[in-house]
Amino acid sequence: NTMEKTFVFGSHTDVGLQREKNEDYFSYFESANGDIFVICDGMGGHVGGATASRLAIDSIREHLQGKYFEEPKEALAQSLQFANLQIFDQAQNSPALSGMGTTCVILLIRATQAYYAHVGDSRLYLWHKDTLQLLTKDHSVVQQLVDQGTITPEEASNHPNRNELSRAMGVAAIVEVEVSSSPYIVQKDDKFLLCSDGLTAHLTDTTLQQVLSRQDTPQEKALQLVAQANQQGGIDNITVQVIDFQHITLPPNTSRKAWKKLKPWLFPFLIIALLATVFMAQYLREQRIQAEIDQKVADSLAIVAAEKWTTDSLTKVDEHPDTLIIHRIKKGESLARIGKRYNVAIDSLVDWNGIDEVEKIAVGIPLKIKAKMVYTLEKPQTLETLYEERFKRWENYDVTLKSLRRANSTPNDSLVGVLPKGKKIIIPDLRVIYM
Ligand code: CA
Repeated sequence: NTMEKTFVFGSHTDVGLQREKNEDYFSYFESANGDIFVICDGMGGHVGGATASRLAIDSIREHLQGKYFEEPKEALAQSLQFANLQIFDQAQNSPALSGMGTTCVILLIRATQAYYAHVGDSRLYLWHKDTLQLLTKDHSVVQQLVDQGTITPEEASNHPNRNELSRAMGVAAIVEVEVSSSPYIVQKDDKFLLCSDGLTAHLTDTTLQQVLSRQDTPQEKALQLVAQANQQGGIDNITVQVIDFQHITLPPNTSRKAWKKLKPWLFPFLIIALLATVFMAQYLREQRIQAEIDQKVADSLAIVAAEKWTTDSLTKVDEHPDTLIIHRIKKGESLARIGKRYNVAIDSLVDWNGIDEVEKIAVGIPLKIKAKMVYTLEKPQTLETLYEERFKRWENYDVTLKSLRRANSTPNDSLVGVLPKGKKIIIPDLRVIYM
């Protein structure tokens, strides 16, 4: 019942002016899998060629009408594979049919989705908004030469080997079927053209486009195309199917229109939303890390305060346990650099922090580092006077002015000049020299 269809179609086949027999075969049929258009161009002698193309289409119909496939791509691939095996088996069992094979181009229409597949040099074209596009790529020797850059597409059309296929159905037990990767969504006034190579041997894309653009019916177009190929010599059998999606109507809801209206500002809007999300996530992460660091620094300082350490009580290093300090990793810092600053081995940093990959550390991560202690300045003074007054005289306490500077200096705080009372000074552990 074509009244329900979104398309109208026309088809025609002709033996041409130079062949004795038409070995092309075509069909249109309905199946649970969708509406099917298919053309096969047989080869392998008078009997074999016609047998192969007909057997292919009968097998494909049997397969597609016999089973529903959820995935149209599977429907196409499996039905062509099934047809291939039928032809191959028959060729094996009948000496007269030995060597027969066929091309195949098939179009499956399911609602507004168009899937297609092909083997050989029968083609599928799409006419959309006055532009013609070839959807299939010939499995032929000349196409391979074009792909390799050996010959130009112009040279291909007159090449002596232009009838040689690189792939055909029925010549081996398994065939490689080329199936469209995603469906084409048909729109109003789109047209499809399926054809055997007898058409394209004579007519250029420009001619095909001109004929398809006319106001004639698909059947009139099919007849005109065949007639034009015959006018130019009709060297081969000619078969065409023209499908015109005249009756496509948009779904009743206005979602398509609304989408179109949104389009101009939707893209920038999505970008802004994405950036906002990224920045918010980054901000929250920073906040969380900072809170963690604050807590850990507070914890470590609390330990120091609880022990009430002063430099006066530091007579022997071994009497005092390690103090945990927290170093927040800054941009460009490596574990090696951090280790050197606090005089700790990279292995120790890895151990204390449970880091797996040495040197692969993220900016902002709080790194736990053991130091000898954190000393709080009891009065305003310079690092030099602190060292002279508090550390220099205890030989056992291996602290050097250089190590104090290194451990406490940051790009933002060079510890030059008088430091305020209450300033925390990190005293690195120099019992083992790592640097
Ligand atoms: Ca042919």
